[in-house]
Amino acid sequence: MVIVCFSIGIMKFNIKKKYKKARLGLLTLDHGEVNTPAFMTVGTYGSVRGLSENDLENCNAEIMLCNAYHLMSKISEICSIKSITLHDYIAWNRPILTDSGGYQVFSLSEHTEVSRKGVTFKSPLNGDTLFLSPEKSIKIQEMLGSDIMMIFDECPKYPLSKEAIEKSMELSLYWAELSKGAHSSNQSLFGIVQGGMYEDLRETSLSELIKLDFDGYALGGLSVGEPKMIRERIVSNISSKLPDDKPRYLMGVGKPTDIIYAVNEGIDMFDCVIPTRNGRNGQLFTNHGTMNIRNSKYENDLKPIDEACTCYTCKNYSRSFLKHLDKCNDSLAGRLMSIHNVYFYQDFMKKIRTAIYDGTLEQMMEKVNLIYSNSQ
Ligand SMILES: [Zn+2]
Repeated sequence: MVIVCFSIGIMKFNIKKKYKKARLGLLTLDHGEVNTPAFMTVGTYGSVRGLSENDLENCNAEIMLCNAYHLMSKISEICSIKSITLHDYIAWNRPILTDSGGYQVFSLSEHTEVSRKGVTFKSPLNGDTLFLSPEKSIKIQEMLGSDIMMIFDECPKYPLSKEAIEKSMELSLYWAELSKGAHSSNQSLFGIVQGGMYEDLRETSLSELIKLDFDGYALGGLSVGEPKMIRERIVSNISSKLPDDKPRYLMGVGKPTDIIYAVNEGIDMFDCVIPTRNGRNGQLFTNHGTMNIRNSKYENDLKPIDEACTCYTCKNYSRSFLKHLDKCNDSLAGRLMSIHNVYFYQDFMKKIRTAIYDGTLEQMMEKVNLIYSNSQ
């Protein structure tokens, strides 16, 4: 039963059911549907390292996140000249969300100069100087033809003084206006709430962004090294103030326990490099907690990673063989373990959606917290 249906440009967001603050929804985008709460697999450079688009589809991934900064130099120009979208170029026909490059202000901060106009990056790879402004970021994202674009913002470090965070939040608001003004396509555009760990600054940021009327709202500037308790306080207090009728996205989060906590507070969308980055390093998520394939106890273990998992890796390969591949530095190890983790995360989100539907989310959260507190 659809209880709410909102049409935002070509994007539609249906909230099918609510359980307390949690929302079960469906996001309809130009390139397909995304069931929410959703986890977006991160393909920063237009690919999820080691995985083909076919692998991702087999893992039931419905949407991919790519990054405008990493794609700015060449691919956006190719897409524009050849009149194709990023979907065509990377052979991924499902929805894509592009991040604006603002996060790189944070992650490459030793190599950046920030002004009101935008950010000058010095590439850590070759020293080339690149300039990215709100207008340029939107133009690149429009050239890429993503389904959802993010505004260009500054993601401040943690910890910083309130004065510094306020200055940064005001700059992000100014850039939000410029991003909105530069938006000329029918692609959806999400605003990003900043304000560090200060709730009053977050509320100011949110109320100003709402005036600009974005298609969805994200919480940015979290998962930057702050204690879990502080992050949870911000998520809990700000999530419920985000507009009820628009998708809500918590950026850069996270572990299964963080995701289910935020879903319970009303968040609809997530992204994180954890499943793939950890997978390549032998850290695997299972229904019994995390496991590290490099542990010597798996040497003669012919069981799959998780006997309850139906991914390609678990259907075909043993822990012992994966450990062997990893030890031999065979890239197949990273690929197979990433497939498992990506599949696990999608399966986890599906279970969360079922729990919202059934009204058993709190019981599931309790179980997940117990499993992961015992395994870490
Ligand atoms: Zn598996």
